Amino acid sequence: MTKYIFITGGVVSSLGKGLASAALGALLQARGYSVRLCKMDPYLNIDPGTMSPTQHGEVFVTDDGAETDLDLGHYERFTGRPASQTDNITTGRIYMNVLQRERRGEYLGATIQVIPHITDEIKAFIREKEGTADFVLVETGGTVGDIEAHPYLEAARQFSNEVGHDRALFIHATWLPYIPAAGELKTKPTQHSVKELMAAGIRPDILLCRADRHIDEGERRKISLFCNIPFERVIPALDVKSIYEVPLTYHAEGLDTEVLKRFGLPAETQPDLSKWDDIVDRIKHPESEVKIAVVGKYTELSDSYKSLNEALIHGGIANRVKVRLDFIEAEIFENGGPTNALEDVHAILVPGGFGQRGTEGKIKAVQFARERKIPYFGICFGMQMAVIESCRHVLGLSKASSTEFGATEEPVVGLMTEWVKGNELVARSGEGDLGGTMRLGAYTAALKPGSRVAAIYGKTHISERHRHRYEVNTAYIPRLEEKGMIFSGLSPDGKLPEIVEIPDHPWFVGVQFHPELKSKPFDPHPLFVSFIKAGLNKSRLV
Ligand code: GLN
Repeated sequence: MTKYIFITGGVVSSLGKGLASAALGALLQARGYSVRLCKMDPYLNIDPGTMSPTQHGEVFVTDDGAETDLDLGHYERFTGRPASQTDNITTGRIYMNVLQRERRGEYLGATIQVIPHITDEIKAFIREKEGTADFVLVETGGTVGDIEAHPYLEAARQFSNEVGHDRALFIHATWLPYIPAAGELKTKPTQHSVKELMAAGIRPDILLCRADRHIDEGERRKISLFCNIPFERVIPALDVKSIYEVPLTYHAEGLDTEVLKRFGLPAETQPDLSKWDDIVDRIKHPESEVKIAVVGKYTELSDSYKSLNEALIHGGIANRVKVRLDFIEAEIFENGGPTNALEDVHAILVPGGFGQRGTEGKIKAVQFARERKIPYFGICFGMQMAVIESCRHVLGLSKASSTEFGATEEPVVGLMTEWVKGNELVARSGEGDLGGTMRLGAYTAALKPGSRVAAIYGKTHISERHRHRYEVNTAYIPRLEEKGMIFSGLSPDGKLPEIVEIPDHPWFVGVQFHPELKSKPFDPHPLFVSFIKAGLNKSRLV
């Protein structure tokens, strides 16, 4: 029977609960168990799809087209198990489900309340995972003590009571701040947050104590005593240089061992962590360095491009090089701004994006890469900008633009109102809702035999994840192909451009999808491996 591990957080947010959950998932997998991870987000949006990435970080998209929390990206990267719509829930979605049911009359006669109706809905989200894995890890977003988090704690408490102590376990992640004046790590916030959790009826089984330095035995004993948790279950979780070290360090501190012991499962044999050892070794001992400029507009929060950063690192792992990312605000290239910021980089990438701000700067960056023969990778918006750039500067269509920025005489990128998914026709109107209505999730593409991308993928049919509303207009293909940009990936019906490339360039590829979402440290995405390699070749020339 499935066992459930609840992960909560205390003291502050941003403790890396998502990473901790993902790392524990990887450790349990390394011990031969199957795992499934899911996340409950206390905010009121139905999903993060309409939020700016600077609010809550990147929006992670699953194969089945769900726009989800970026922690699902960590789960996939660490466990290799594809996430789905059913792995992420928000308070908004919970309420929407309950209220829709109320309107249908399914609760006739009843008063709808947080307990039991909202908590029942949360429990149903957890319970539907029964039987899908040996361990289901359920992470609750936010911090214990938040008003929004309360129904989730209550639901988790009820759930653990229903399935029984031997099938449910609580891990609480906390923070031990270092006070320089006192010269010590402080345990009091942890004590208070455990107290808060106990007030919700949950006694944590394991404490994961985040700290920026060694936690000495005395401090651990103190936490154990005051929080009523056995010493060996007060687990130090210190900062590490690379997130891929986390499974190794948590294992060294006994996290997976304590989880198994608490469930009464055998814990004597050691898990096989050789793949993690290898990844960490490659990260710690690179043979050289590649400098990549990421020209975007959400550069103030690195979580905005979480999967992208990781996929680039994976490309570095595969090539045994350190990848240095230079995040550059696209707007600095506008109005004659300096392109010398791009002068000494080995490759340029324009990532996904929305809206007009910064687009002229992105187009300048593409032009620089194309003309100066610097490896260029355009992702989603970055592909659209690359096609607009070629239309303007190679075909001489100075008005080339996207209808995303308003009416244009040369709609090189335009709104798609109909497309085919599998055997189904999907239709959208230009005036519809903005939430959840983009071309989302996995679509197949057919690659041109003999093209660069066909060689990179080593096959001619691929499936990649999408998240965009606009498409490159096929009417411009013949003119562009005549001038050297080829459309080497199309939807199977030939209607949607998926990949462009310039064969007469060291490495120039634009993709309409988000390959970064599927890259894993131990299974790096071929496009990123190839792009970093191109950057490496460039670095050897300069
Ligand atoms: N804004 C563009 C579109 O909607 C690109 C989206 C993206 O880069 N994810 O088509």
